[in-house]
Amino acid sequence: MSGRTVIENCAVATVDAHDTEHATGHLVLSGGRIEAVGPGPAPAGLGGVTRRIDATGHLATPGLINTHHHFYQWLTRGLAQDAHLFDWLRASYPVWACIDEPMVHAAARASLAMMARGGVTTAVDHHYLFPRGAGDLLGAVIRAAGGIGVRLTAARGAMDLGASDGGLPPDFAVEATDDALAATEDAVRAHHDPAPDAMVRVAVAPCSPFSVTTKLLCESAELARRLGVRLHTHGSETAEEAEFCHERFGMGPTAYLESAGWLGPDVWMAHCVHMTDGDITAFARTGTGVAHCPSSNARLAAGIARVPDLLSAGVPVGLGVDGTASNEAGELHTELRNALLVARLGPHRERALTVRQALRLGTAGGARVIGRDAELGSLEPGKLADLVLWRLDGLGHSTITDPVAALVLGPPAPVTLATVGGVPVVEAGRLLTADEDAVARAAGAEARRLAAAAAR
Ligand code: ZN
Repeated sequence: MSGRTVIENCAVATVDAHDTEHATGHLVLSGGRIEAVGPGPAPAGLGGVTRRIDATGHLATPGLINTHHHFYQWLTRGLAQDAHLFDWLRASYPVWACIDEPMVHAAARASLAMMARGGVTTAVDHHYLFPRGAGDLLGAVIRAAGGIGVRLTAARGAMDLGASDGGLPPDFAVEATDDALAATEDAVRAHHDPAPDAMVRVAVAPCSPFSVTTKLLCESAELARRLGVRLHTHGSETAEEAEFCHERFGMGPTAYLESAGWLGPDVWMAHCVHMTDGDITAFARTGTGVAHCPSSNARLAAGIARVPDLLSAGVPVGLGVDGTASNEAGELHTELRNALLVARLGPHRERALTVRQALRLGTAGGARVIGRDAELGSLEPGKLADLVLWRLDGLGHSTITDPVAALVLGPPAPVTLATVGGVPVVEAGRLLTADEDAVARAAGAEARRLAAAAAR
């Protein structure tokens, strides 16, 4: 990005440490970063302004951060519609085991396009299925993110505990432990960029307590710490998972994961629905993060995560779409609303979560969970220019005076502009980096090819 971009006349929710907001404010972007943010118009006499945006009727927020997803699942949406997690997985594994590189590339492009159009500027893809001979699946995801222009954490997953060893996945869907570890190390060395403005980070991410061996968990933790990258997995998602851990290991999922070296400020876990008070204390004590996925938890009848308790204990919490086979909508801005609504169905009722806490989960909270809060998650000078202008003067929002309430409680707000490092990715609700209809056609074709392969 050359020159300065000035955005003026919009409401601004900075989501900084003090929740600073401006009813009418400005932003100045320069060199891929935020140079200034404040109330009223931009300072007069700024040189080198190449673009000036009158954002009247809009709210500016940090770009949304999706902390948990499985991009490949875009091809298997709508399956096992009335199943809980374990039955849904048993129905899905045989189909998923037929994926290949072109399928994953098309699914990743569609997943990323859908999210970007809804204001996501950073996303995590947790990919844990690597069928023999399927090609370079992680490379396909990374190529797709580069093409769409969204920052990516590629979480290199793995499963090595097949059904014959007491795991949930069928034997044909798992890798050998040492192969998974070697491929994960290769992925970090090939793709991980530790730079503050990185477009691609890699995390080490064995799939879940019921699909990986204790050896893989322990050695993954050692590997990630040796390479200086983060750790991600699923944890405490369902009552059935807790039962599995008690039967097999004589303890709950959090105690089991802690025994394998899996609590710490460099770890985040998806779901964390079935947490005891002691589990929450352990997460808070160690700085372990949570990717809260309210729609997926509802779709799979997993339960209501204790987000208000996690937040009051000081646990870092972000939001996740989760795979689109368990959240067919595939968007994150709708999860702001769903997080608030679902939390209010729990014991804290109307005191569960405010609209501003919901926005924080999707922005600053997510940045902290993926270890990028120094450069992402709030609109502050020096941070990367990842931001969204939400249009709030249209039919869906014009009568809600509080812009944050309009964004969180109203219908999905149109995205007038989304930038990543100051570069526009979405304008006037349309993706600039790809032809949405072509992305949809390619994903549809690959979904049919996958269904045909699975039927053979
Ligand atoms: Zn997941």
